[in-house]
Amino acid sequence: MDQQKITLVLFMKYHSLSIFLGGSCNLDCSYCFIDKENLRKIPLNIPLIKKGINFFLRNPSENPVISFTGGEPLLYWSSLKKLIESVRKNQKGKESIIIVSTNGTLLNKKKYDFLKKNNIVLSVSLDGRKNINDINRVFKDGKSSVFKTTWGNIKDLDKKKIKICSVFTPETVEYFNKNIKFFVENGFSQLDFYPEIYRLWSKKHLNVLKKEFDIFAEFYSSLNSNYDSSLEILFINRMLNKDSDNFCCQKLILGPDGNFYLCDKIFSFFDNRRKKYIIGNGEKGVNYVKRLELLKKAKREIVESTQNSCLKCSLENYCFCPIGLYLWCIENEKDFKKYFKTFCNISKIYISSFLKIKNILKWKSRPL
Ligand code: SF4
Ligand code: SF4
Repeated sequence: MDQQKITLVLFMKYHSLSIFLGGSCNLDCSYCFIDKENLRKIPLNIPLIKKGINFFLRNPSENPVISFTGGEPLLYWSSLKKLIESVRKNQKGKESIIIVSTNGTLLNKKKYDFLKKNNIVLSVSLDGRKNINDINRVFKDGKSSVFKTTWGNIKDLDKKKIKICSVFTPETVEYFNKNIKFFVENGFSQLDFYPEIYRLWSKKHLNVLKKEFDIFAEFYSSLNSNYDSSLEILFINRMLNKDSDNFCCQKLILGPDGNFYLCDKIFSFFDNRRKKYIIGNGEKGVNYVKRLELLKKAKREIVESTQNSCLKCSLENYCFCPIGLYLWCIENEKDFKKYFKTFCNISKIYISSFLKIKNILKWKSRPL
């Protein structure tokens, strides 16, 4: 890492803070990377989390984003309320964007009214209509439909304040565009979608993904011609506004214990492994030297095991961060080289779709 990059990592402003409230969840999604059992055992330390939030609010970028996640954050309702009120009280002039990432099954009018009053963006996880969503997203007891419950709770709400967050897997990728159209036709205009990267994708499924993304690029471009953005896809915004390299993370992760962690994938590890990646706490702030050392070590090992492929790649500026996947592989004793292949192939499909859209729209850079 050259001197300029080191300075950037040490003194950078963080653009987002993700707060993990704990591992409790009423669902059992097949692709969930969180070790919920283990995360549930970490005691919730609200005073230290509040201090961690204040640390972030003293060091944010222009548009600070604070997101609450879990497990299922609505299961921590009284703590969540206190923390949201504390952010609103302490944000000092800079209106932070607060996002609550939820599975939507526990949303009711009382909760929604509180969230609306505090100008919260709801990021609701839903993968598509019932027969697609319920393939991977299931209740723990498996008795009722997650889609029916979540959809019933959100379909009549103000859709401008709801982001739909979808995951596609080899089993559901062939329905990718059908799912997007389903959400658009039902009035949702902010979508984000992620591949399941914690498994190996076959060539056949990658080809399906490529085909689906080509169709999507045409569909998105037709909806958003003349820069009039009627559909906002968050990965496209991220690529357009990317201002650091993919090894230079600007996210801060706060655990239920009020400790800062290197990366959110840490919550898929057992206790003794997780603790290695603590990089500070709400009281003391972030230990920048430890953070940088851990990032440098991960970067060095990734570069070695991939024979420098990212540093030589022309798409590097647009690509996603491989560090989370790398840590997940080494701590869970998986073959990183194999998983990286899937990661790289999917990244290339994402980026080529993005470049195609950019080319069609001749998109001008604009703020988020
Ligand atoms: S709702 Fe979220 S936390 Fe709960 S099982 Fe599904 S992916 Fe995991
Ligand atoms: S496309 Fe592949 S090789 Fe290129 S930067 Fe991304 S992960 Fe690395």
